Amino acid sequence: MMEQAQRLLQTYYGFSSFRQGQEQAIQEVLNHNNTLAVMPTGGGKSLCYQIPGLTLPGTAIVISPLISLMKDQVDALNAYGISATYINSSLSTEEQRERIRNMEQGRYQFVYVAPERFDSGHFLGTIQRMQLSLIAFDEAHCISQWGHDFRPSYRSIVPTLYQIPNLPVLMALTATATQEVIRDIKQLIEVSDDSVVNTGFARENLSFRMIKGRDKRDFVQEYLKNRPQESGIIYTATRKDADQLQQFLSKQGFAAGKYHAGMSENERKDMQTKFVQDEVTTIIATNAFGMGIDKSNVRYVIHYSMPMNIESYYQEAGRAGRDGEPGDCVLLFSSQDIQLQRFLIDQSPVEEKKKEEYVKLQAMVNYCHTHMCLQQYILEYFEDPNAHEPCGKCSNCTHAGKEKDMTKEAQMV
Ligand code: ADP
Ligand code: MG
Repeated sequence: MMEQAQRLLQTYYGFSSFRQGQEQAIQEVLNHNNTLAVMPTGGGKSLCYQIPGLTLPGTAIVISPLISLMKDQVDALNAYGISATYINSSLSTEEQRERIRNMEQGRYQFVYVAPERFDSGHFLGTIQRMQLSLIAFDEAHCISQWGHDFRPSYRSIVPTLYQIPNLPVLMALTATATQEVIRDIKQLIEVSDDSVVNTGFARENLSFRMIKGRDKRDFVQEYLKNRPQESGIIYTATRKDADQLQQFLSKQGFAAGKYHAGMSENERKDMQTKFVQDEVTTIIATNAFGMGIDKSNVRYVIHYSMPMNIESYYQEAGRAGRDGEPGDCVLLFSSQDIQLQRFLIDQSPVEEKKKEEYVKLQAMVNYCHTHMCLQQYILEYFEDPNAHEPCGKCSNCTHAGKEKDMTKEAQMV
């Protein structure tokens, strides 16, 4: 079976070797063990369910929380000559019905659906009549209350699934799982210890930098000047900041676009396309940007202000360097950032969540003040099972940020 997997890797994808964790995860699924794969963003999780999906008879159902992500995945599979489709609310009812009919006739090797698809019994009824190769839960941290992006409908699918007689092997994949989330997923989808493939969270190609006490605009302007051809994202905490910074940078002659939820859907789509096609090199965005975007050559991610927690930070910063080439992750910290995040947490309607959010915010603030290796700090936060040496290239390892910090303190004195 693994020989066949190796061959598929070559013939369909044109890759010569597996990346860390892929082979083991594929092997587990091919042995019909429910499997959990925890690998960093860009680590190649898709292949871990796609190759078994191509190997085992029947249709693979892939549950994905993001509609935009589905289309990209399906397009990629189609480009490899693999029959795949997605069924979600972006399609007309007629189109959905059509695809479900095709699916039932076994015409697709992969069908991507949103978790809500299982809320009605109809879809479940249909897949019960089919031969299924596997069911994959992409972005599986959404299953867990402990995850930072919990989706109740994601969680409730699982007990529903266990009612169906022809249940195939289940697979869960995520890049952002604390030990708590891992335990939760393992229990819910019945994964044994041996079938957890955890390559850890380290992204060796990323360098982290903490910048304090600098004028943020100045920093960005200088930074972009030094990297005119490179593609990057600047995350701001508010739409207003995004608007203002984008206006400022455009005036300075940079090819800078913006993206936030205050723009129309068309404007956002347009901007996304321009960024992916490198017409716009820098995009200034709120956290609304990035989830469904698979742009591999993002060379830097700058946080114009501190985000709310390490989970969000690592996910956003992790959009740099998905192609394995170096990625620069810069956080521009000022103490006002803390006030802003507190304010945002206080706006949350869910009272019980606030306390938890405060704890996470504190860890984020600690990151901004720590003297330890920034990479190590993040890996420890996620309770990464592998031991890591200091990265040797973050601003704490190289003491790059320190000088500036002292300048600031001297100024204050
Ligand atoms: P993830 O879902 O873990 O974030 P993806 O599955 O989207 O990552 O893969 C990230 C990138 O790595 C994709 O461009 C993919 O084609 C590439 N990739 C995956 N596996 C391999 C491999 N074995 N060799 C080379 N490139 C790979
Ligand atoms: Mg993925």
